[in-house]
Amino acid sequence: MDAVVYKGEYEVAVEEVEEPEIDHPNDVVVDITTSCICGSDLHMYEGRTAAEPGIVFGHENMGVVSEVGDAVSTLEEGDRVVMPFNVSCGFCQNCEEGFTGFCTNVNPGFAGGAYGYVAMGPYPGGQAERLRVPYADHNALKLPEGREHEDAFSLLADIFPTGWHGTRLAELKPGESIAVFGAGPVGLMAAYSAKLQGASEIYIVDQVPSRLELAEEHCDATAIDFREGDPVEQIIDAHGGEVDKGVDAVGYQATDPDDVDSDTEEFAYDPAKENPAVVINNLIRVVRPTGQLGIPGLYVPEDPGAPDEMSAQGRLGIDFGLLFEKGQALATGQCNVKQYNRYLRDMIIEGRADPSWVVSHRVDLEDAPEMYEAFDNREEGVTKVLLEP
Ligand code: NAD
Ligand code: ZN
Repeated sequence: MDAVVYKGEYEVAVEEVEEPEIDHPNDVVVDITTSCICGSDLHMYEGRTAAEPGIVFGHENMGVVSEVGDAVSTLEEGDRVVMPFNVSCGFCQNCEEGFTGFCTNVNPGFAGGAYGYVAMGPYPGGQAERLRVPYADHNALKLPEGREHEDAFSLLADIFPTGWHGTRLAELKPGESIAVFGAGPVGLMAAYSAKLQGASEIYIVDQVPSRLELAEEHCDATAIDFREGDPVEQIIDAHGGEVDKGVDAVGYQATDPDDVDSDTEEFAYDPAKENPAVVINNLIRVVRPTGQLGIPGLYVPEDPGAPDEMSAQGRLGIDFGLLFEKGQALATGQCNVKQYNRYLRDMIIEGRADPSWVVSHRVDLEDAPEMYEAFDNREEGVTKVLLEP
């Protein structure tokens, strides 16, 4: 079958790989109908993780069950399903307590598993024609039959729950104000979740105009372009003070706003212009004393392309003194997709949420190499790309 294979820095190819099979009686095999490209894939694509060539990418997967292991009890051939990007067992201590992003059984020696991701276990990705799903009763969420809401449902694998998770990590309450850094797919979903949860004011920070426009249109957010000056000062000016809560939807590959030349068109992901601590430090500045920071943006313990030796080991210059002084709380980590995906699915089915506006492209699997390049360049209008095998 065909799949998207990582070849090395800035290179993926659609190649023939081995078909997945039922390896364990708890598995199912799914014929993929949609698999999305994620900002998380870009860290590997850019050679900014320990990922080795040969990995089949794809952790945002949905499709139709085509083979069912003997011990699977709730799924049948023909069921339409979406899988959390997390692979989890359902019965370890963390899973039992709802922290399926930190399962200790599926990826021994590390907490948490995922499809098609470096250090996240031996699970090939689903940017492919077919996918093996382990512990399938636990890992597949059933969807209504047919093709309705295909785009929206595909976002249940990761970015809709992850954006929602960002607001939950920050413990957003109705009526509070919130600043979201990053208007990529995750930041847009965080802003949308804040709107759905009744935030009074939502600020969203980025440098890509088309992404900021989506946030204004669909999330009632106030757009802050960091090319126009310090985003923290801009928010404090617009809001008349610090905000209650903040979300980091950027992660370690953050552009340093001080390094951006507003006269050029370049959206530099040049490590020389990166500052891996800048977003967390901006959040500490912009959130009020005793406010909370939710950090779903990704940070790594090992970054081969880091701007300095400390951040190459995942050590960041965080303004902890200021955080202490302000008595703020912060929470971070992989999203436990299963805490949210069932409820967000039902909001989509009932018409109370429809995140599909974030999708800009649905293309054939074979177009993956050019779409990886366009999404990686944060090209205007390339917001969320869905692959269809
Ligand atoms: P993305 O790369 O498309 O979006 C990041 C956005 O941040 C871009 O639009 C970029 O222009 C903007 N940006 C860069 N520097 C900035 C700065 N200093 N201030 C404000 N904005 C800045 O990726 P995405 O798909 O939206 O993912 C965002 C982050 O979330 C990534 O780090 C990704 O790995 C992570 N992620 C985490 C989880 C999780 O479970 N915790 C799940 C999915 C993605
Ligand atoms: Zn993802």
